[in-house]
Amino acid sequence: MTDVFDKRKRSWVMSMVKGKNTEPEIFVRSLLHRLGYRFTVNGPKNRELPGKPDIVLPKYRTVVLVHGCFWHGHHGCKHHRIPKSRTEWWTAKIEANRRRDERNIAELERRGWNVVVLWTCGFDTIPMREVLAKKLPDIIEGTDTEFLPTLAAEDPAHYGDKV
Ligand SMILES: [Zn+2]
Repeated sequence: MTDVFDKRKRSWVMSMVKGKNTEPEIFVRSLLHRLGYRFTVNGPKNRELPGKPDIVLPKYRTVVLVHGCFWHGHHGCKHHRIPKSRTEWWTAKIEANRRRDERNIAELERRGWNVVVLWTCGFDTIPMREVLAKKLPDIIEGTDTEFLPTLAAEDPAHYGDKV
């Protein structure tokens, strides 16, 4: 593939566009792979399901959403700070993203899909990544229902306590 962007610039542009192929997302994909899960990133479900989820595990009827804290508006998170310039525009933009995520998640659940939201602040250190690697199978297979709310906690400091 030829591309006018060099690699770094492209990954920045991509992450601004949709949070696709960001480092956290690549980490989650390689972790799933390492754990032996089969998933699609470019299959029909990725295109057809609400919100076009990037990671679909058909066997578990599960989608994994890797949510960048800024772009998806992680309330109360240190990584979610609205810029000081064009504040109103950013606030409206991020709120629209949040509402869209909520609608998509509700629709996925209505269709019987299990939705795993991984906020990037929940695995931005190596110890956190090790914890996630241990917990992810139970999260995907639905036997750990307590860890995920912690991972998605409004205040990521709570999650840090567990590491
Ligand atoms: Zn966050």
